[in-house]
Amino acid sequence: MAMSETAIKAAILPVTPYQQNCSLVWCTRTRKAAVIDPGGDLDRLKEAMRVEGVILEKVLLTHGHLDHASGATKLAREFGVPIEGPHRDDAFLLDELGRNARRSGFGDAENCTPDRWLEDGDTVTVGDATFGVRHCPGHTPGHVVFYHEGVRVAFVGDVLFQGSIGRTDIPRGNYQQLIDSITQRLWPLGSDMAFVPGHGPMSTFGRERLTNGYVADEALAMTAELQQGQPKPRQYS
Ligand SMILES: [Zn+2]
Ligand SMILES: [Zn+2]
Repeated sequence: MAMSETAIKAAILPVTPYQQNCSLVWCTRTRKAAVIDPGGDLDRLKEAMRVEGVILEKVLLTHGHLDHASGATKLAREFGVPIEGPHRDDAFLLDELGRNARRSGFGDAENCTPDRWLEDGDTVTVGDATFGVRHCPGHTPGHVVFYHEGVRVAFVGDVLFQGSIGRTDIPRGNYQQLIDSITQRLWPLGSDMAFVPGHGPMSTFGRERLTNGYVADEALAMTAELQQGQPKPRQYS
């Protein structure tokens, strides 16, 4: 880790009936914290902040789906902190959170108007720590990913999972766009980059490039070869 980079720590707190991986991240120098994707169960998140002795500085959102964003407005208002992210192309989801929650029986949700929309290449700060931002459309058009260069961890929401990728059979989902986001905006961050997905266990980009049936290098190569009418024979021994 470069000398100028401040270390971070994080706690993963699955919330809502969807077991969405909300993350509490904080700067170890200032103990200022951000909650990434507070989908709900705010009492649980507040208890975690108390236990860790950290001060909430902002709310970060990867995308506008119910299980990720439903508690954002309430939490931000209660602590008087801003909401940063996702990209503005998810405004159509954040504007409808309350209505969608009632319609789907999800429970409590308030519409959300972030204080700052994010673009690919932006940075966000938490205390003295800095996170990079990647715009990764495909699951939703405004999905973003946060990563810390020094600690080598990314918070990828529903873009990528251990062994799978985000759903694209949803309004404004786009399969090819999602594959492009993963291979062109996440893989360049490095194979040793660990990631916390929106659901399920952690992994690394390198492990997914070897084993993930949707985005492994070899799986994508085979698809391309077939498109060109020249599938190469492969031998496994
Ligand atoms: Zn989602
Ligand atoms: Zn999700």
